Amino acid sequence: MSVEGSTGCRAASRLSTGLLSVARRLERPVAEPCSHVPSDMTAPTPSGDGCEDCLAMGERNWVHLRLCQECGHVGCCDNSPRRHATGHYRDTRHPLIRSFEPGEDWWWCYVDEAGFNVPGAPPAPSYPT
Ligand SMILES: [Zn+2]
Ligand SMILES: [Zn+2]
Ligand SMILES: [Zn+2]
Repeated sequence: MSVEGSTGCRAASRLSTGLLSVARRLERPVAEPCSHVPSDMTAPTPSGDGCEDCLAMGERNWVHLRLCQECGHVGCCDNSPRRHATGHYRDTRHPLIRSFEPGEDWWWCYVDEAGFNVPGAPPAPSYPT
């Protein structure tokens, strides 16, 4: 009868839980720009003033908004009930979003799962306040 032997398993599950909570908090700059950032960083024309997909459903209950750097799709963040920005990435594989919040310029890459600022990038558009 031994009570030892499961320490490694417990450590592993603690580690993955820790990584998950880190990933959830990463909606802010933490790293160097990734390789997906294009040389032409001109911001696309936003699809609208709110989450395109929520508005299509007649809803406006998002928390924060994100802008797809590739096509200008405006989607709601992962703290919003429907997470349309992430849904847009799953549908299109467009890797980069920028914050669509006033005063925020950071980028997020879904492929690299990294947030960062890009020195010299034009300011991110945002919805009117
Ligand atoms: Zn990337
Ligand atoms: Zn939405
Ligand atoms: Zn897109």
